[in-house]
Amino acid sequence: MTVEQDRMSTTAAGPAQAENQMDGDGPTGGSGLPPVGRAFEDAGIAMAFVAPCAGPGGLGAILSANPAMAQFTGHPLEQLLGMAFTTLVHREDVAISEDLMHRLVSGEIESCSFEKRFEHADGHLVWGLLTVTPARTEIGEREGCLIVQLQDISERKHFVGQLEYFADHDPLTSLLNQRRFRIDVDRQLAYGRRHGGCGALIMLDLDNFKQINDQYGHAAGDEVIIAVASALRKGCRETDIVARLGGDEFAVLLPEASMVDARKHAEKLLALIQSLPIEGAASGIQVASSAGLACFCANDGQCADDVLINADLALYQAKESGRGKVEVFAHSTGLHEKVEARLLWSVRIREALSNNGFVVHAKPVIDLETDDVVYYELVIRLKAIGDILIPPSVFLYTAERFGMAVEIDEWVTAQAVALLEGLEPEHRLPLGVNISGSSLLGDRFLNFVRANLQRSGLKPKLLIFELNEAVAMANMEQAKQFGRALASLGCLLALDDFGAAFGSFYYLKHLPVDILKIDGAYIRGLGTQLDHTDRLIIEAVVQLAKGLGTKVVASFVGNLETRKELLQMGIRYGQGAFLGASMDVVEIPALQTQHRDHQR
Ligand code: GH3
Ligand code: MG
Repeated sequence: MTVEQDRMSTTAAGPAQAENQMDGDGPTGGSGLPPVGRAFEDAGIAMAFVAPCAGPGGLGAILSANPAMAQFTGHPLEQLLGMAFTTLVHREDVAISEDLMHRLVSGEIESCSFEKRFEHADGHLVWGLLTVTPARTEIGEREGCLIVQLQDISERKHFVGQLEYFADHDPLTSLLNQRRFRIDVDRQLAYGRRHGGCGALIMLDLDNFKQINDQYGHAAGDEVIIAVASALRKGCRETDIVARLGGDEFAVLLPEASMVDARKHAEKLLALIQSLPIEGAASGIQVASSAGLACFCANDGQCADDVLINADLALYQAKESGRGKVEVFAHSTGLHEKVEARLLWSVRIREALSNNGFVVHAKPVIDLETDDVVYYELVIRLKAIGDILIPPSVFLYTAERFGMAVEIDEWVTAQAVALLEGLEPEHRLPLGVNISGSSLLGDRFLNFVRANLQRSGLKPKLLIFELNEAVAMANMEQAKQFGRALASLGCLLALDDFGAAFGSFYYLKHLPVDILKIDGAYIRGLGTQLDHTDRLIIEAVVQLAKGLGTKVVASFVGNLETRKELLQMGIRYGQGAFLGASMDVVEIPALQTQHRDHQR
């Protein structure tokens, strides 16, 4: 409805009032209008007498207004008089009140309030809380016109707007956050159910991002996250929804994309990330990402969580199959079955933790010159049906994923402490406990070790904690702190599978290591086909260890020739089936007695 129509309907509703008002016979007691005096004039809140109208918004001509209303709207009083109140309201907000206004005018309700945006005379928008009540005579009868009060709520709206923004956006990248992304995915699925069509969801997780944090610092890591976010936003259409799910994980919703197109798009995004120019502390590094893709179709009954889980499963598949690639979720690939199998394993592990379902085996580390055992590495096994024992490689990944790895490390540590306590002090040999990446995080595991040492009074050097080199590298900063904390407790740190990864030597500079266990891949070749490169690497490790004052252990010593060669190369300690088989720990005390008798 136009302003003109508004005015007309006002006139139709109460010609006498409107005419009087136009004559300037005013709000101060002229015929038809309630008497208003100084209270109205001086009120701090914007007020007006308005004629009702049948059009949108329900508020017609302004019959009278106070100076606060002039200030609120930016229009001088004389301009306001006669103006349709609705013209002051932002056009998108005019209809908000329609139903309530009908009920007010019909006498069903006594007052109503709503929030609307108003267009100030100078063009900017002002948020107002509008309260409308019928004007009444002194004896309480309705006058026919309405009293409008308007309160400036712009500041509150701005604040609420900010809160809403923060509730929906990731503060680091300004992309949508996980909460809002889920809502948007659900909306898209609902839209699909009504109108048909298909779409896709791409989930991305940066590859080896922890290494960037560790090597260049957290701030540099943040810069990388911001750069990736911006590349994703630029690499997608306006209508695609891009979010940061948390950490180094992002997601893109392609509302109408076929699987083929979505795959191409995901590959394009990975290429964009790989060619990202990184500036600042990590300047020049190449960032890479893996991606999982899941598609959805109208009426396939999926909810947001289903699609997110499927994309997450595909992402895991991409990580497991070498990173830097896109994997597509398909029911036929058996990914769900894999997850179910993991769930089953997680139940078995939990049961084993609470019902003594693990056993510990010990692998001796031998002095290659004297044949003496220098320490035993403890290895956990899960008891299965019958005599079958399951090696840690089968269940540790699941234990880590389901947050049980620290408990397992604590359990083995407790076994080690109990074993040592059960021996006479002169029979005690150090025991090696393998630890997972999770035990490096936080203080829980260290506190456990500290408490056990204090309670038992054991010499801290009797406990050697063995950390896989790859785990240390992936959590370098935590590994450093952990190493320092261990050293301050007096325990020893061994780095297992040393040399397996590129850059091992560089990392060694930062880690306080007592024992280096050379990766078996280098040792296996010795004695048989004498691989030249293996030999050079072993020699380099020996030199390095000498300089650092670190002991070197060769794992996988498989025969006499290897043993001889190792000794010639200056490696004093070895481990492997040829030197001493792994045994149940219950046999350790007997062996140690033998060892002592032999020495006498
Ligand atoms: P993967 O290849 O398997 O994805 O390993 P990753 O090293 O990328 O590690 P992962 O994705 O498992 O973990 C992401 C890491 O990102 C964990 C945490 O250290 C780091 N991180 C999480 N949030 C932030 C952040 O806001 N800023 C920075 N700089 N780092 C973060
Ligand atoms: Mg990652």
